[in-house]
Amino acid sequence: MIDVLPVRTPTVPPATHTNCYRFGRVVIDPASPYPDEQERLASWAEGVDTILLTHHHLDHVGGVADLVARTGAKVYAHTDARVAFPVDVRLEDGDVIDTGATTGAARLRCLHTPGHADGHLCFLDEQTGDIVAGDMVAGFGTIVLIEPEGHLATYLGSLSRLLPLAGRLLPAHGPVLESGPAVLRQYIAHRHARTEQIAAALAGGPRDPMGIAAIVYAGVPGVHLGLAAVQVRTHLTWLIERGRVVARPGGTFTLVE
Ligand SMILES: [Zn+2]
Repeated sequence: MIDVLPVRTPTVPPATHTNCYRFGRVVIDPASPYPDEQERLASWAEGVDTILLTHHHLDHVGGVADLVARTGAKVYAHTDARVAFPVDVRLEDGDVIDTGATTGAARLRCLHTPGHADGHLCFLDEQTGDIVAGDMVAGFGTIVLIEPEGHLATYLGSLSRLLPLAGRLLPAHGPVLESGPAVLRQYIAHRHARTEQIAAALAGGPRDPMGIAAIVYAGVPGVHLGLAAVQVRTHLTWLIERGRVVARPGGTFTLVE
């Protein structure tokens, strides 16, 4: 059984909570900056001595300092993670964490999966294929990539890397995704489809990211066009890197003939 505690966090709507996972003496992403949630988290996390971080975004690390103060637990994060509190152990791809769990994952292998955040880690239970996925996928809503830290080609590479390893995916937001490989394939296909829609939107002439977003996201209910334009920008970078699009003066982009 997966031991998970969703805590309220200042995260990206429609998500309102971040999942904290526990395996034995290890807690992953004690996330909430709110005192009432930290109280709840501390009683759930009693007995932990290790805090693992998937990545440094504020909706994942808000409760770390409080939990360290209460428990003395050591903080583990990837070498590239940038946080405002001390990190005791810097992790690299392939490192293995002994959780001491008697049910569930006894050992978690670190998988470096950049693209959404620098130093993003997933944690693989090699026995079951369960992967604590951080912000690589979401149980609902979508994964936002913001340049320059967010990089589509890197993100897609990380998703592909998870594909042959994944059983279930345990995301930071929303419910467990039972069929990890199917979800990963769908995420990869979706981003490629979006890239082609954006290339098609440029067929009519140069446009800026906002103009492209207005076309590509036209039928999407409740879309925030500013955020959509930020996503469009990551696809434009992908197209630029492949020589299919060029940036023009004035913030517009055009297809390479
Ligand atoms: Zn994030």
